[in-house]
Amino acid sequence: MKIILISFIINLTLLLCSHFPTFIHFKHFFSHSRSRADVQTNTSWNAPIIWDGMFDPDVFDQRHKQDQSTVALTVFAVGRYLDAYLGTFLNSSEQYFMVGLPVTFYVFTDVPEKVPNMKLAPQRSLKVIKVERHSRWQDISMMRMKTISDIIESDIRHHSTYVFCFDVDQVFTGRFGSEALGESVALLHAHFYNLPKHRFTYDRNPKSKAYMETGDFYYHAAVFGGTWQSVKAMADACYQSIMEDKQNNVEYLWLHKPSRVLSPEYCWDRSIGYQKDIRVTRLIWAPKNSDTLGELKAPGAKKNSFNTNGRPTTCLQGS
Ligand code: UDP
Ligand code: MN
Repeated sequence: MKIILISFIINLTLLLCSHFPTFIHFKHFFSHSRSRADVQTNTSWNAPIIWDGMFDPDVFDQRHKQDQSTVALTVFAVGRYLDAYLGTFLNSSEQYFMVGLPVTFYVFTDVPEKVPNMKLAPQRSLKVIKVERHSRWQDISMMRMKTISDIIESDIRHHSTYVFCFDVDQVFTGRFGSEALGESVALLHAHFYNLPKHRFTYDRNPKSKAYMETGDFYYHAAVFGGTWQSVKAMADACYQSIMEDKQNNVEYLWLHKPSRVLSPEYCWDRSIGYQKDIRVTRLIWAPKNSDTLGELKAPGAKKNSFNTNGRPTTCLQGS
């Protein structure tokens, strides 16, 4: 009896120890004493919104090193976007993106030989994949989602825990670290984060798959991520939805509410000017280089943004 009891206790201890990491939910790492009173740090469904000052970067880094987290970054640089933005994007990401964790960069381009040669830190590598060039933004969006889904299936899922997908027209300017990793990660749009909901310019066409009345937040699709499973599910859903709804200009679909939301520090537009709640900028919009990009973006072209509630959304450029 005694032996059975002892072995039971040992088993229980082993069980508890082996499951210990799952008992500590990441949200406990956001210390209350550090929390920010001037901004919203939690969603109504209790996902953290990540702001500077809310977290200890070392705690997240240690935890992800222990868990052996690995990260894939996908970026498209097709046509004139390659010369205009890719070099700066990649160089800055080497300096600031998930430093200390193994990262694989997946660069999708129509001209692989023009991808700059990069000196990467140990455990970081770059893969260049050739894609077709499309001229219509709808085809570009659709192609991106299909390509992301395919590369997760064929490659990423065998090597990486998390996937982050970025627009190329951006520059890292500060730590964009493991605090941003989560099951599904969305980003608050720099131009909308402090506006009342009625100012969000969702798609109001009831026939469109993108139609929605109101949403929680206005997310920006220039950065999104999550586990490979969740990013793949989202990319598949977007692709399906764009295929079915092409005339209605649907762009992106967010299947579930994100488990983690990044503040606009993680994708800031400097042209907005000083905002007292933005204490650091970690990634900024690259200035549009009209010389290299020419008339690539027609006025009124759709911006890439999306929303939760199981419904996608779009918004008009400049709105
Ligand atoms: N893109 C590209 N070539 C193009 C158009 C778009 O490589 O001709 C990629 C690139 O990564 C870009 C992203 O698609 O950052 C989204 O397009 P864009 O940045 O023009 O959209 P915006 O940020 O203006 O909504
Ligand atoms: Mn962009």
